[in-house]
Amino acid sequence: MNCTACKKGVLSPAYLDVMLPSHACNECGGVFLRMIDYFRWQEDNENIDLVANPPVGIHAEETSTAILCPKTGVLMTKYRISKDTEHRLDFSAAANAVWMDKGEWELLKTAGLATRLNNLFTSHWQHDIHAQESSEVMRELYARRFGEHYAALSEFRAVLDAMDDKHEAIAYLMAEDPYKP
Ligand SMILES: [Zn+2]
Repeated sequence: MNCTACKKGVLSPAYLDVMLPSHACNECGGVFLRMIDYFRWQEDNENIDLVANPPVGIHAEETSTAILCPKTGVLMTKYRISKDTEHRLDFSAAANAVWMDKGEWELLKTAGLATRLNNLFTSHWQHDIHAQESSEVMRELYARRFGEHYAALSEFRAVLDAMDDKHEAIAYLMAEDPYKP
């Protein structure tokens, strides 16, 4: 197979991790991994702890343009890894395989996601990333709006949330003069 990411290299059989067969590009270092191989590897390494020894100083590449599946020639779909990184994996439904740029497997390991690769390609996972990002945007908006009072306000919000008679407490706060009978 020819590499569809760098369009220069050739993909040849290589081990992505201990006993995890894949195809790697001799030019860009990208990796084409079939999910069937991944699932087999996952089954055989049920208790593997990939997070225990995260590699240091990872630099992961990122192909931002759309790439074609090296096996089927069909356009691959990009999936975000998490809200903490802009890295996206390319998935080919036609070949049921994933394309990872150089370093992205290590990135997954560090993020504790190497054993949950298949989860990333679900709409549920992608939706969660989106929801988390939206909440963060809201948090930033409030922080800017309330400035120096934001910390105290959000702390007090947590106090209110924990109260059974929260509405009574809010009424007390809202009243012009709550001590006036
Ligand atoms: Zn390549």
